[in-house]
Amino acid sequence: MQGLQMVDLKRQYQKIKAEVDAAVLSVMESAAFINGPDVKHFATELAEYLGVKHVIPCANGTDALQIALMALELQPGDEVITPSFTYIATVEVVALLRLKPVFVDVDADTFTMNLDSVRNAITDKTKAIIPVHLYGQCTDMAPLMELAAAHNIPLIEDNAQAIGGYYTFPDGSVKKTGTMGIVGCTSFFPSKNLGAYGDGGAMFTNDDTLAEKLRMIANHGQKVRYYHEMVGCNSRLDSIQAAVLRIKLRHLDEYCDARIAAADYYDKAFADNPNIETPYRAPYNKHVFHQYTLKIKNADRDKLVDMLAEKGIPSMIYYPVPSHKQEMLRDFGGEAYTLPVTDFLNTCVVSLPIHTELTEEQLAYISSHTNQIVDQLSKS
Ligand SMILES: *Cc1c(COP(=O)(O)O)cnc(C)c1O
Repeated sequence: MQGLQMVDLKRQYQKIKAEVDAAVLSVMESAAFINGPDVKHFATELAEYLGVKHVIPCANGTDALQIALMALELQPGDEVITPSFTYIATVEVVALLRLKPVFVDVDADTFTMNLDSVRNAITDKTKAIIPVHLYGQCTDMAPLMELAAAHNIPLIEDNAQAIGGYYTFPDGSVKKTGTMGIVGCTSFFPSKNLGAYGDGGAMFTNDDTLAEKLRMIANHGQKVRYYHEMVGCNSRLDSIQAAVLRIKLRHLDEYCDARIAAADYYDKAFADNPNIETPYRAPYNKHVFHQYTLKIKNADRDKLVDMLAEKGIPSMIYYPVPSHKQEMLRDFGGEAYTLPVTDFLNTCVVSLPIHTELTEEQLAYISSHTNQIVDQLSKS
């Protein structure tokens, strides 16, 4: 089968081409490239969608995390708890700001932060916790929020992979991912669930004072032009990207549901294979499947990747090296950590193509070959 991809942005674009082309052209004709009306409209529309007071757009998801940490005014050496099992950006910004990342383990079923691991990592120096809603699954927020509140530690949600999802609290109330911590951060990298046609990111908060600070930091520390109150950075969402995102936001729920439908198909196809564990969906959340990630048993995961490639099926290991073992973070005592679940997951996870445009024919092809290859490898 030809042309299988992890994400098919070309076909997705074809369906909204007329709308997107018109919106992009209108930005070009207005020449309002920086902070044009589309940026403000997008922020308002996204805030409404999320049910949050403030959306502060910025240049990318990594900047969103960095600006959030800057706004909390942490001091060098302050500790920030993050999972090791995440994309490097979550941890990199902590190190960049001369803060100390403290790595915790994840749960083997949800792939998100393990609560006991967080509890054991809290010290007097812990000044922030960054739960990552990995692969589109929300962290179990209620107990984490309770723990953080008891120690007066702010939560920064890394929502780069879970926008469009939501979390149901034990009392039945529902909140969108990224709106439960003091600040939520997201990325509009093209392959994300809400992807631009270039880079983009945003922060969400219900706190008015913090919102103003985040806005200032993203804009050279100024409220009034040329009067700089604090050291900030230059981090903006382009008007053209905002125009694209306004259109794609209207399709976000449908895009998430298409991903879930693909996950449903895969789940059924793999249900009877004892060597394939399909992703667990925690009942407290709407898992929006940024990734569809299997755990492979009794078969060589890396050989599976190679053999799938021979059939034209792309697959990816997210992520091959956990953060605490990255050379970049060698100063933070990675060897001293024992994170058994993280280490275990790194040996057995594999992500299959998942996106909004998968056809049944493609899903059938991918899943039947995956089943056959795993069967074959488990017998050899
Ligand atoms: C994509 C991603 C980021 C960074 O977003 P960019 O827009 O690429 O800077 C941060 N955290 C996680 C978990 C991500 O998946």
